[in-house]
Amino acid sequence: MLSVRDLTVRFGDTVAVADVDLDVGAGEVVCVLGPSGCGKSTLLRTIAGLERPAAGEVVLDGRDLAGVRPDQRGLGMMFQDGALFPHRDVAGNVAFGLRMRGWPRADLGRRVAEVLELVGLPGLGDRNVATLSGGEQQRVALARAIAPEPRLLMLDEPLGSLDRGLRDRLIGELRELFARLGSTVLYVTHDQDEALALADRVVVMRAGEVVQVAAPDLLWRRPATAFVARFLGQRNLVAAHVRDGRATTVLGDVPSTRDDVAGAAEVLFLPDALRLAGDGHAGRVVSRRFAGDHVVVTVELDDGPTLDVACWGGGAPVVGEDVHLAVDPTATWVVPAG
Ligand code: ADP
Repeated sequence: MLSVRDLTVRFGDTVAVADVDLDVGAGEVVCVLGPSGCGKSTLLRTIAGLERPAAGEVVLDGRDLAGVRPDQRGLGMMFQDGALFPHRDVAGNVAFGLRMRGWPRADLGRRVAEVLELVGLPGLGDRNVATLSGGEQQRVALARAIAPEPRLLMLDEPLGSLDRGLRDRLIGELRELFARLGSTVLYVTHDQDEALALADRVVVMRAGEVVQVAAPDLLWRRPATAFVARFLGQRNLVAAHVRDGRATTVLGDVPSTRDDVAGAAEVLFLPDALRLAGDGHAGRVVSRRFAGDHVVVTVELDDGPTLDVACWGGGAPVVGEDVHLAVDPTATWVVPAG
């Protein structure tokens, strides 16, 4: 449905978006993930027609959008701050996008009630937006974006300003809402948990460039680079040397299936690759973190690396305790040296 080709956006000498290709299929939820300043917002704003690209094209439903005004692009957009109109009530805010798109006045009330129901705010139409909580305001902004039934819904850090608990709840609600509406969504976030939970596919950006596009589980297990692995929150990367399909590390040899990695490399040990055992690689617990249904201990091995190990089912060792690590060489993935 959306196809972005060789898109480059510059601000003076800064290349904010560098030669980016991106596809979003009908009904797909695609998350653009990357650290602050990597060009996510600029990419979204350029698709929306709010920034002018230096090169490349944006095609929606086969139509080249160059020269098409932002409000004529058929896109719904929601920004982090929500930016509701403080002097309008909830219904007035939601109806705004509909009026802009020329919806008949007679249909406004019904549609506003419908979308308020969808975002979990039924009957709140005549509330003053200043009296709503942060989470409720965020939902009103979302209702405003989805009300005109845009072909493509674009959300820029829509949960950015909310506290963790509320964010986690809204992530679940958003996923259900997108599925129910069959929406096509392009969603920008710097939060890996949000991207992994919501996306059908994740586009990872770094310094204006796309470094990997993959489904969440593949991205997690098969990151293209050490940067992607670390950005997703993977902690256990160990220096390696790759030769003839084997990566040699201080934790032993592991298979390497990538043709594009040779010589200096790193091996990612996935969480289920490491467990405490009666014997194996010796080390000492240097820190310990409670994580709800398990405990994560950080182990400094006598051989060098420091690794995080999840301990399930109680009895996790304490700081200072001597432990041994058993390694499953198959739960690993080799990446180029970062
Ligand atoms: P992100 O959304 O990933 O945080 P942005 O797209 O906002 O990143 O920014 C990408 C780069 O472009 C940054 O270096 C930022 O400083 C720069 N940039 C963004 N908008 C402008 C602007 N209007 N003028 C100048 N530089 C900008």
